[in-house]
Amino acid sequence: MRKHIFNAGPCKLPDVALENTSKAVLELNNIGQSIMEISHRSKDFEAVMNETKALYRELLNIPENYHVLFLGGGASTQFAMVPFNFLKRKAAYVNSGVWARTAIKEAKIFGEVDVIASSEDKNHTYYPKNFVIPTDVDYLHITTNNTIYGTEILEDIDSPVPLVADMSSDFMSRPVDVSKYALIYGGAQKNVGPAGVTFVIIKDEFLKEVADRPIPTMFKYETHVKKESMHNTPPCVNIFTMREVLKWIKSMGGLKAMDKLAQERADLLYAEIDRNKLFVAPVEKGSRSRMNIVFVLNPEYKELEEEFVKFCSARNITGIKGHRDVGGFRASTYNACTIEDVKALIAAMQEFEKNKA
Ligand SMILES: *Cc1c(COP(=O)(O)O)cnc(C)c1O
Repeated sequence: MRKHIFNAGPCKLPDVALENTSKAVLELNNIGQSIMEISHRSKDFEAVMNETKALYRELLNIPENYHVLFLGGGASTQFAMVPFNFLKRKAAYVNSGVWARTAIKEAKIFGEVDVIASSEDKNHTYYPKNFVIPTDVDYLHITTNNTIYGTEILEDIDSPVPLVADMSSDFMSRPVDVSKYALIYGGAQKNVGPAGVTFVIIKDEFLKEVADRPIPTMFKYETHVKKESMHNTPPCVNIFTMREVLKWIKSMGGLKAMDKLAQERADLLYAEIDRNKLFVAPVEKGSRSRMNIVFVLNPEYKELEEEFVKFCSARNITGIKGHRDVGGFRASTYNACTIEDVKALIAAMQEFEKNKA
């Protein structure tokens, strides 16, 4: 029986995407070969690649002057690749949590980093707002959703310098004004597919801002733009599954529908956390993530942490143990998470409260 999956990443994927992938792994399009066995230069794979890119463009309404790339190496490689290509002298970063800090660390290898805002003073329980963006930097880097601390910025900010965003964990959960960004990247495994494929959306004009330093071929965005993500063998199966996820998003009504569902799931779960005597949400209202809902036990019930995880497990609910840096619990409610999944967790929280409070 399928569980109620709240894993932070890799995470729950839509049933139909799993079913269609499993079929294609055995045989693709009645061609007597698996998706794993065909050449990435074959007509059959080319069709998969092209349709996936077209779905990106359609769902996100990506302007003509942007390229869509599918690379390897995860979002973690982008932490280095962005400054490798674009940090000439100084870049601005917002320190909103663990992933932002990791990105900052990599950027410092290539130049000066101006951390223009940070939420470190309150253990990242809010999203830094109202920061002033300097105009003497090569770009500004933000993390739109902080997967570990559970904060999110739900607007596309105006930036006087090229805006680079790590959207790993809230990508395709709402319509985004791509034209406000110079580069968007993320690992697929949080909202659009299995681990192993990294998406990059990059503006043509930004490509011209490349730093004057030797960059190995594989680390140059230009390589992947010119070869349309086919410079080397792309992760074919992962891209196939991603296409199936995107087809599912489209069939559900696109990003407006994802947005509405994300709000519904988050509203239900935060309302229960705020009501329930046992739990509190450490993140400030106004910064609360709709994708990673963090909650902890009230101090007087602190010792019940392990028991609640077991209690959930017995009810087929999995993946709610919090990140080691925050403790408590984290329910990751990405696109494929259903209202029924959320209701199952809420029922468990209410029953646990009845037993304990
Ligand atoms: C998971 C995550 C990463 C790291 O992604 P990998 O694909 O594992 O390298 C980076 N940034 C954010 C916001 C994430 O959630």
